[in-house]
Amino acid sequence: MFKELEMICKVYENESYAYDETPKPVAPKPAEFVVVKPSNSQEVSEILKFANSKRIPVFIRGGGTGLSGGAVPTRRGILISTEKMKEIEIDKKNRFAICQVGVTLEELSRTAERHGLSFPPRPGAESATVGGMIATNAGGVRALKFGVMRNYVLGLEVVLPNGEIINLGGKTLKNSSGYSLLHLMVGSEGTLGVITKAIIRLLPPLKEMSMLAIPFKKTEDALNFAIEASLYTTPMAIEFMEKKAVEIGEKVSGKRWVKKEGEAHILAIFEHEEEAEEVAEIALKFDPVDVFVPSPKEQRDLLELRGNIYVGLKNMIIEILDVCVPPAEIGKYLKRSEELALKYGIQLITYGHLGDGNLHQHPLIYEDWQKSYPKFRRELLKLAIDHGGVISGEHGIGVVKKEEFREFYPKQYNLMKEIKKVFDPNGILNPDKIF
Ligand SMILES: Cc1cc2nc3c(=O)[nH]c(=O)nc-3n(C[C@H](O)[C@H](O)[C@H](O)COP(=O)(O)OP(=O)(O)OC[C@H]3O[C@@H](n4cnc5c(N)ncnc54)[C@H](O)[C@@H]3O)c2cc1C
Repeated sequence: MFKELEMICKVYENESYAYDETPKPVAPKPAEFVVVKPSNSQEVSEILKFANSKRIPVFIRGGGTGLSGGAVPTRRGILISTEKMKEIEIDKKNRFAICQVGVTLEELSRTAERHGLSFPPRPGAESATVGGMIATNAGGVRALKFGVMRNYVLGLEVVLPNGEIINLGGKTLKNSSGYSLLHLMVGSEGTLGVITKAIIRLLPPLKEMSMLAIPFKKTEDALNFAIEASLYTTPMAIEFMEKKAVEIGEKVSGKRWVKKEGEAHILAIFEHEEEAEEVAEIALKFDPVDVFVPSPKEQRDLLELRGNIYVGLKNMIIEILDVCVPPAEIGKYLKRSEELALKYGIQLITYGHLGDGNLHQHPLIYEDWQKSYPKFRRELLKLAIDHGGVISGEHGIGVVKKEEFREFYPKQYNLMKEIKKVFDPNGILNPDKIF
């Protein structure tokens, strides 16, 4: 099978492509696979035509920073790595980036800045690619003000499993021309088509950034502060860290948090200084330990601390959960999820995007977790739905959440399966993901 493929393109054997960043306890097992590295949509088309004619499973990998097992080759097949698809062009007057999907978040942001523009979303991993961020509809720290990846995708070039190359959307800020296949492709996790190029909306540069770092004695006060502050202005971000998460961030980054007194710690980020000053006043009403206004240097240190918590946790945890609930429901959801964890004797470490209701809860590995954890997890995800939430805010369903996805969303699941059949009748694209 792979011999014939070598007639079409160079084939690589490489173990390092077998995993993404999903914590090992729940990471899917990779099967035998070969890696191909096309440079453009034409080459992708040839590979897919070959695979489709032979019913060979095809997996797609961008930066491999996913947290749901989406890019893991779970069947004997071909893994397309987009790492060679690095072309990028900035259309300054229209404030668009036209780029191939292997361009990373860091490269896109830097290139936009060099042209006096900005790409505001910051979905966590700088080595994530444009293709991966679109396929997972990535969110990140600044989603509260600047939205998620879906809000920046204006056009896509996609290769369908039969090798056909289609263009969706385009260089327009508005588009109401029939069903939005463009938005269907966003968040499709590599199951409907291989995205090869994207037209991405850019914004003028961010003028300044202000920050508040606020330790609170009680979690409840921190949560109520976040709701009140968001009624006054729309911060770029309101990040929540429980004390243990702060300590892990300090340990990995070597940076110091402002003050570790109290159980709940908030990092609030604003586009304008006046907003930070006003919100600092609001914070005083919620019994904070203190309200700190970090200098630009300190701001970078605190962001580095926040950005390193997952690195410090990933070998201690079963998985990273990613529920999203209506912001005003977070307090009730968190309280009940902690009660549930207590009932099962599970320790959770929580931090995340409080402002937009998307918290990352991390259950620590415990003895024989395989016996009781699946039941706890199902109840916790159900709890999020009972509070008007969803089981994944930004990481996607991938392999790790598909059981609960099918159980809790039966109608959507069946509709999506029918849509999958239209795009991929032979089911070769990223099998075992979502479905
Ligand atoms: C430390 C850390 C922090 C993170 N923080 C955040 C965060 O704040 N917010 C957030 O949303 N995510 C976060 N993530 C998760 C991850 O960075 C995102 O899911 C990101 O979008 C994945 O991009 P990637 O290129 O690495 O994709 P991969 O992991 O390579 O793939 C992800 C999925 O996209 C599919 N895919 C990739 N490229 C294509 C393509 N060209 N066409 C079709 N399908 C494709 C894959 O098949 C897979 O299903 C974080 C991850 C880490 C490790």
